[in-house]
Amino acid sequence: MTEDADLANFCCDELAEAVSPDANAGLIEHDSGLILLNLGEREEEGETGVVLATIRFCPFCGTEIQTDEDIEAALGGVEETFN
Ligand SMILES: [Zn+2]
Repeated sequence: MTEDADLANFCCDELAEAVSPDANAGLIEHDSGLILLNLGEREEEGETGVVLATIRFCPFCGTEIQTDEDIEAALGGVEETFN
């Protein structure tokens, strides 16, 4: 069994299972490596966009999975969809 490989970036099985590269998932693994919380679609000025929020702590076990520095460094690659 090589379960370790799947958990490389994750603190626990729950998070590993919840995170998906699928943009419709509740927790998204962004190309930048950030874990983003999907808050759903919002329509603004006739355009529909997905609202994403960064999270610092695992919602399941509370482990800090990415620091403010990680988030800031990676945000260059994330569309600014939140204010
Ligand atoms: Zn966790």
